[in-house]
Amino acid sequence: MALERTLSIIKPDAVAKNVVGEIYARFEKAGLKVAAAKMKHLSRKEAEGFYAVHRERPFFNALVEFMISGPVMIQVLQGDNAILKNRELMGATNPKDAAKGTIRADFADSIDANAVHGSDAAETAAVEIAYFFAATEVFPR
Ligand code: ADP
Ligand code: MG
Repeated sequence: MALERTLSIIKPDAVAKNVVGEIYARFEKAGLKVAAAKMKHLSRKEAEGFYAVHRERPFFNALVEFMISGPVMIQVLQGDNAILKNRELMGATNPKDAAKGTIRADFADSIDANAVHGSDAAETAAVEIAYFFAATEVFPR
């Protein structure tokens, strides 16, 4: 088992629904530790930069609008196989396809407003963590 870190974002829809604590409880019960956290209302530039890989996709503008529609909760999760574990807790991108008991099945309304983000690989996790956190803000240092 590999000790990993991954970037998680609780998106504006889930923050507005007041389920930050319920989602944190799922991370903790799965053995993931919160290694860093901040609440932030992203600027358009920050959201566009974060999702730059999707710039050419037809849903890009809607995705950016949604991500800046309200504050988000951003965290680094740490644990064994944290990247895949978090993806499993999240469920499929489209909540209609998300397995029962996953965060998206329980809290997401649509593929646009789908409650959470999670890094999809070690390389993207490293880039995404550095996008929001200085090395001194992630614990243990
Ligand atoms: P994931 O968040 O599961 O890693 P992607 O990286 O493919 O999914 O897409 C990033 C985000 O863009 C998704 O979480 C979702 O909010 C949005 N998105 C992806 N595909 C679509 C789509 N076909 N229509 C609308 N929004 C989409
Ligand atoms: Mg993705």
